[in-house]
Amino acid sequence: MAASKQPRYVDISNPSLVVECPRCGLQTPRFLDLCQNDAYKLWPSSYAASAAFKAWRAADPARAAASRFDREIPQHVELVVDFDAKAHELGIHMPPPSNWPFVICAGALFLALAAIPFDSVVRITLAVIGGVIFLVGVVGWVLVEDVKMYPTESAGGSEGHS
Ligand SMILES: [Zn+2]
Repeated sequence: MAASKQPRYVDISNPSLVVECPRCGLQTPRFLDLCQNDAYKLWPSSYAASAAFKAWRAADPARAAASRFDREIPQHVELVVDFDAKAHELGIHMPPPSNWPFVICAGALFLALAAIPFDSVVRITLAVIGGVIFLVGVVGWVLVEDVKMYPTESAGGSEGHS
């Protein structure tokens, strides 16, 4: 075969990064020397394919981000999703963003430490500390912040699990 003597011609006006393989008919990256599906030799060599790709890429600044392995020029689109708005649209109740659950967890930590059979003075001290932190968290979350977030709803209702 005189494959290596083929002219190194590339149609740079064609914006496509894929080509239909002449043997298998499936789409494959245009500037790889072998078809990705059946390894049909599309270019005489990898160097020729690379040179053709560089010529193709240089023809248009919009192609600068493309790679030989791409099937289309990568587009950097920022996908910004407003999940709160989407949840509202779907009728899902989103809890308000709050730091109080961390306080409640810190209280629960001390309460859990109080369950360890230490000396009774230590346990009572831990239980009091944990209980105070826990209650502050519950009050702050349920009675203060929730009422502030939802002023029209009935004030706080349930007391949580205290
Ligand atoms: Zn093929």
